Amino acid sequence: MVKAEGVHKSFGAAHILKGIDLEVAPREVFCLVGPSGSGKSTFLRCINHLEQINAGRLWVDGQLVGYRQKGDKLYELKDSEVALQRRDIGMVFQRFNLFPHMTAIENVMEAPIQVKGEAKAVARARAEKLLDRVGLGDKTKNYPSQLSGGQQQRVAIARALAMEPKLMLFDEPTSALDPELVGDVLDVMRGLAEDGMTMIVVTHEMGFAREVGDALVFMDDGVVVESGHPRDVLTNPQQDRTKAFLSKVL
Ligand code: ATP
Ligand code: MG
Repeated sequence: MVKAEGVHKSFGAAHILKGIDLEVAPREVFCLVGPSGSGKSTFLRCINHLEQINAGRLWVDGQLVGYRQKGDKLYELKDSEVALQRRDIGMVFQRFNLFPHMTAIENVMEAPIQVKGEAKAVARARAEKLLDRVGLGDKTKNYPSQLSGGQQQRVAIARALAMEPKLMLFDEPTSALDPELVGDVLDVMRGLAEDGMTMIVVTHEMGFAREVGDALVFMDDGVVVESGHPRDVLTNPQQDRTKAFLSKVL
């Protein structure tokens, strides 16, 4: 579903991603862990072309992200074509980023109506189902300010799902939450995983990675240091850098 080959990214003189190679299979829950500043968010942003890579290739669902290949030449896609690629990728951030002036259900209905031109009634019916699925069937008319952080994050997940993405990217979705609210959000993500959604999850929740993850990559300083099944990497890390990191977070 996602393939990265030799992905490099720099911001000015700062070389952040230094040749990332990895592959995410369909229906896989792929966990990405690593210290602050190692390039995890940057990598996620490259996947949906919020950042342009400087070298290497990225594919999502067999499509080259941001480019069209003809022979051995690459041509940049137009903004409208990038937008089409991005429609298939849902993203949930650490901060919930809901539209503050819209109710929960309006937040979830917004993109299908605005981006896909969907009929309001259709968008509303789906939004109701999605809010129900994330356990907020009774909060559809609440504004974000009338919801807890965990509830807001579940609305954000429902909003991303409303576009019926092929792939979901989660960037530390629970790290801004009070501890007692983390579980509900992780439960929603677990349910998504059970339904077969392909997910890349940047997280410090090692319990989640161990129980739900199919693959885990430890990234440091812009490179993949170690990867494998979460159980193996978490219980039996091979690299010193992985051991040092895990000793701090486990
Ligand atoms: P954290 O765990 O703290 O979220 P991270 O692994 O997600 O860290 P990134 O956010 O990808 O790390 O940042 C990696 C490096 O890239 C950091 O040094 C950051 O300052 C730098 N960086 C990220 N975005 C930009 C930008 N738009 N311009 C310049 N530097 C950036
Ligand atoms: Mg980050």
